[in-house]
Amino acid sequence: MVMALASVDGKTASEDLASKPLTVRGLTVSYGEKPAVFSVDMTLTQGRMTAIVGPNGAGKSTLLKAALGIISPLAGKALVYGQPLKTQRHRIAYVPQRASVDWDFPTRVIDVVLMGLQRELGLLGRVRARHQARAMECLDRVGMRDFAERQIGQLSGGQQQRVFLARALAQSADLYMLDEPFAGVDAATERAIISVLKSLRAEGKTVVAVHHDLATVAEYFDDIFLINTRKVAEGPVESTFTAENLNQTYGGRLAMAQIDQLELAAG
Ligand code: ADP
Ligand code: MG
Repeated sequence: MVMALASVDGKTASEDLASKPLTVRGLTVSYGEKPAVFSVDMTLTQGRMTAIVGPNGAGKSTLLKAALGIISPLAGKALVYGQPLKTQRHRIAYVPQRASVDWDFPTRVIDVVLMGLQRELGLLGRVRARHQARAMECLDRVGMRDFAERQIGQLSGGQQQRVFLARALAQSADLYMLDEPFAGVDAATERAIISVLKSLRAEGKTVVAVHHDLATVAEYFDDIFLINTRKVAEGPVESTFTAENLNQTYGGRLAMAQIDQLELAAG
């Protein structure tokens, strides 16, 4: 389906929205008086990995949550493959920032992964052998098969993060949204996660992740989306991950020495 969109500069742009895993237009989100995200447009491309980059408090998590419909925006909309979010939510898997999940009652790792199969199981659905097998397969993919019977609360941060990724895999989504998947994880977990994300990309899935480590942007991602309440820039890492865009995003809070060490695109 091809739709014509009036773009901000008044020209008429023709975009094949149906082929875009996520299109965000004019998104504004506010918790109080000052917007956390202001008039943001974002377009994700199928089969690519996008890093959302910006300083603390820039609205990165808010953008993801609003794009997922977890919080409602003041203005703007999100389309998933050109369709309203509410009919397409099943096509998105979300891995929230790890610190936001608190396990105060005992839950087995396998049960966390089975939550990813909820839609297939239905409200009263019995867990059958094939569901169990599918959950184990997802745990295997993140290297956590041997931990299936353990309590999630007893695992290390990195191990928990792998389990949450396994739950997302169980959903068989088309678009994977992750909020700081590498924050506070060990190096082995970081390698395991990036390798799973790259294998999803190889299957034609789309990945978007809030990412705070500028040193690995060029190695891990295809596209970058820079935000500081407003969008600063978006596009391929090779052309968009520039010192100028970083300076605009971080407003001088990034030391030149730090920038010098990055594998940046030529501005
Ligand atoms: P980031 O993920 O880029 O660090 P957030 O999206 O978490 O930024 O936050 C953006 C802004 O919104 C910050 O100023 C933050 O303090 C504020 N904020 C985030 N969540 C809430 C909330 N639940 N209630 C009030 N303010 C919030
Ligand atoms: Mg955040």
